[in-house]
Amino acid sequence: MNDQDLKARLTAEQYKVTQKAGTERPFTGKYWDTKTDGSYHCIVCDAKLFDSDTKFDSGTGWPSFFDAESDKAVDLIKDRSLGMARTEVVCANCDAHLGHLFEDGPAPTNMRYCMNSASLHLHERDETDS
Ligand SMILES: [Zn+2]
Repeated sequence: MNDQDLKARLTAEQYKVTQKAGTERPFTGKYWDTKTDGSYHCIVCDAKLFDSDTKFDSGTGWPSFFDAESDKAVDLIKDRSLGMARTEVVCANCDAHLGHLFEDGPAPTNMRYCMNSASLHLHERDETDS
């Protein structure tokens, strides 16, 4: 998909976050406080990235997960922008920027995937579909 198509399909916020590695303001996104059962997919390519089973309330104002759907769902990139050494998390399928990974999450992984709501789309779990 080319840049023009993406710009047309995504909101300005979604475009800025996923294509320009932007960060939404905390407590403003769609999913930071969501507890709905389901799976979180990439807003750009619809690949499954996270499950609500691994979502936890981090208090940061961004949707946070302690594990990704699988090792292959996301790619981790060392990010040295802003003078800090951070780990950027991107969609393994389409390279959309998702957020950052921090090593201060809860058990069992002790990882905190700090994501942007703008990068995600929640597929609510159907009661009959398990
Ligand atoms: Zn993607």
